[in-house]
Amino acid sequence: MAIDLRGQPVLVVGAGIMGAGIAQVAALAGHPVRLYDARDGAAADARSKLTATFDGLVAKGKLDAGQAEAALARLQPVAALDAAADARLVVEAIVENLDAKRALLRQLEGIVGADAVLATNTSSISVTAIANGLAHPGRLVGMHFFNPVPLMKLVEVVSGLHSDAGVAQAVFELARAWGKVPVHAKSTPGFIVNRIARPYYAEALALLLEQAATPQVLDACLRAAGFRMGPCELIDLIGHDTNFAVTCSVYEANFQDKRYAPSLVQKEMVDGGLLGRKSGRGFYRYGGDAGGAPALPVAVHAAPATAREVVVHGDGAIADALEQSAAQALTAQGWGPAREKGSGWTGLAVDGARLVLTDGRTANELAAATGCADLAVFDRPLQLPWAPGSALAWAPAERAGAAWRMQAPSWLAALGFAPLPVADVPALIVARTVAMLVNEAADAVLQGVCTPEGADAAMKLGVNYPAGPFEWLARWDVRGVVTLIDALDATYRGERYRVSPWLRRRVHA
Ligand code: NAD
Repeated sequence: MAIDLRGQPVLVVGAGIMGAGIAQVAALAGHPVRLYDARDGAAADARSKLTATFDGLVAKGKLDAGQAEAALARLQPVAALDAAADARLVVEAIVENLDAKRALLRQLEGIVGADAVLATNTSSISVTAIANGLAHPGRLVGMHFFNPVPLMKLVEVVSGLHSDAGVAQAVFELARAWGKVPVHAKSTPGFIVNRIARPYYAEALALLLEQAATPQVLDACLRAAGFRMGPCELIDLIGHDTNFAVTCSVYEANFQDKRYAPSLVQKEMVDGGLLGRKSGRGFYRYGGDAGGAPALPVAVHAAPATAREVVVHGDGAIADALEQSAAQALTAQGWGPAREKGSGWTGLAVDGARLVLTDGRTANELAAATGCADLAVFDRPLQLPWAPGSALAWAPAERAGAAWRMQAPSWLAALGFAPLPVADVPALIVARTVAMLVNEAADAVLQGVCTPEGADAAMKLGVNYPAGPFEWLARWDVRGVVTLIDALDATYRGERYRVSPWLRRRVHA
């Protein structure tokens, strides 16, 4: 018979930032909730804080006074675990330590009934390992909430090797009844979100290491691609110590797979106490007059010099958008661009010079391959149509003449972008970041960690990505992503740019 946990008594162990949030959500959903913490007074403090939070929400009209009162009446701090022997669900949110979690859950098995479900909110420890040693390991699953719990919709329901499928389903249904969006995950390092998100930080740090772009430029480009925060400002917010610790834990847990290797750039900052907002300085300075990322200087571009012929190359949606923008830019001159499909590249040909959408190759490589010296590459616009003035990275080939070096950014500006010059690196900024996010998600699916739909939901709800990796893939194409990552691999070698077999198999599908 299916397990139904709705309305059943809940015990939350650990009244810290996560436990308090979980208790709040469970109490609001109508459960009698007991809250326990090993530190005297911590559970009572958490309840007092919640009372103040509820008062604020009621005052703002965001919570009904009667509901708040009833939820608070249902939430009881307890001084001993025995006081919650009738719990049908235990959610553990104590310190992130395997031995502590194992010891607690073993102790709980002697207190709660044999049919009680055990859930751990661990963010990085194997659920299989935590279950090892339990009398009934099948009843333990991960119930991974995100911070702040009342606001974040995502819950990763994590199954280890022992976990009973019925228990996972019951926790999944319960999370849904609590107004969350649950996603099934297999217990692997980082689960879904913390694993698939690694390249968002790693690619920025790799570009910083080789001085390809500044933090401001990286942030501006990824914000223009629709991310709420750029990677550098986001790491400053998370804290370099925390972000570095998660990276190291995923790296170690994967037997030091170089794909997840931490960055020297970040280690140096952590060692130096440049932890981000909380220490007053990370990539940016905070506090006093300093308010994070300084504004980028606005470059002024002269209108493109009069061209005799403009041809938009390419087949997809980006080429269509380029054609539209080029047509608009040329209206004043009374003529429009020509369009050539099937030419094997996307971009603009202006009197023989080329402005090429990155396919992973550098401007120098493209110039050598095409024999066209007056060539520049530009990054992938992710938002179609792009908002006027969207930041976009570009780089000229070394052999490009002075005139084309001036005209290429003017053309990008005329097309509606704010062109930001960066080093001539393969796949520039947005294209390489998104391709690597797609690649990581593909590997997660290959390994049965989650479904494509689960990955999309998890990344949109867990870290607010503007789209899921498989949604990006559907708008791009598998061959394009694979070609781009192969180009990165051709430059860097090593293991980081290793195409997921899941993607490679689909190139010919
Ligand atoms: P926290 O330090 O705010 O709270 C932990 C609480 O557990 C403390 O109040 C502590 O006194 C109590 N505690 C420690 N050992 C205990 C024990 N043996 N028995 C009872 N209580 C004990 O930590 P947190 O940020 O709430 O994290 C809790 C768990 O949630 C960790 O496993 C963490 O990895 C996970 N998590 C944290 C976040 C986050 O953003 N903070 C997000 C997802 C998951």
